[in-house]
Amino acid sequence: MTTPVNVTVTGAAGQIGYALLFRIASGQLLGPDVPVRLRLLEIPQGVKAAEGTAMELDDCAFPLLAGIDIFDDPRRGFDGANIALLVGARPRGPGMERGDLLEANGGIFKPQGEAINAGAAQDVRVLVVGNPANTNALIAQAHAPDVPAERFTAMTRLDHNRALSQLSAKTGAPVGDITGLTIWGNHSATQYPDVFHARVAGRPASELVDEAWLENDFIPTVAKRGAAIIAARGASSAASAANAAVDHVFDWVNGTPAGEWTSVALPSDGSYGVPEGLISSFPARSVGGRWEIVQDLEINAFSRAKIDASVAELVEEREAVKGLGLI
Ligand code: NDP
Repeated sequence: MTTPVNVTVTGAAGQIGYALLFRIASGQLLGPDVPVRLRLLEIPQGVKAAEGTAMELDDCAFPLLAGIDIFDDPRRGFDGANIALLVGARPRGPGMERGDLLEANGGIFKPQGEAINAGAAQDVRVLVVGNPANTNALIAQAHAPDVPAERFTAMTRLDHNRALSQLSAKTGAPVGDITGLTIWGNHSATQYPDVFHARVAGRPASELVDEAWLENDFIPTVAKRGAAIIAARGASSAASAANAAVDHVFDWVNGTPAGEWTSVALPSDGSYGVPEGLISSFPARSVGGRWEIVQDLEINAFSRAKIDASVAELVEEREAVKGLGLI
């Protein structure tokens, strides 16, 4: 057997964790020939539930699962991690202001960044799912100076998949026939799902939909899908979030299909006027195990305004965490 890949999952006892771990252990995260060792990180109150999930994972007898360890100490949880999925985060409680939320999450993501810096494998790749994901990723990255910044990403793949599904439903084309969609900006209500470079079965999407549909239907539906699922299901989306995390890491490790791209929140290099260092969503290709921002897309005035608005929110979040001394 080849050496197992160490996959650390935080918030392992949560509902996304429950939907995610079985897919990792079955080989869907990295591929059907890659053994994995799971390292589950929880807060002390979550450890017992994580142990229960580990028992179920054992009972699946996954041939690729080389072992499961459970920790409540980030230093141990991230030791040797090749892939780090940062799912656990502090949810916004009643009456909690954004500053309180950022501060609470700073208390989680700062020590996790330090632990990744101290002990993760040389090739560690980090995906932050826990919200506010972009800024949590920024905090972790700021505390891992020895890890290349580009290894810190945040998840907008669920938004991307939601946009694919909505465009598919509108045009009647299967999702597999749609390429060139992009989510820009923050994983929040300001995110901008952009269809202006999308093609549906080879035709420009902009010939098939009009601006009124984009403005009044598509963009709000994609951005508010999480709330719609809570309203319908009585619980937040978990399986679709886990699925998107699997898609993100699989593509990062194995490459995006030739000529296609996906959406990833990663540290800006200044492309498209997004301030350098901000962790913002871009059109991205995975080539040779690294994300590359797709360059030279023409940005029309409609898109420019929406990208700028979401990026402005990220700048505000960055200023807020700077003000709190978290970065
Ligand atoms: P979930 O597993 O449902 O969600 C975890 C995080 O993912 C939340 O921040 C959530 O944001 C975010 N998220 C991102 N995208 C989505 C999406 N599309 N749908 C839903 N959530 C999304 O939370 P649970 O409360 O079930 O579990 C969290 C677990 O994390 C608990 O077991 C807790 O003990 C643990 N935890 C672990 C920490 C650690 O390891 N150090 C630290 C903090 C918590 P949102 O809140 O906006 O829905």
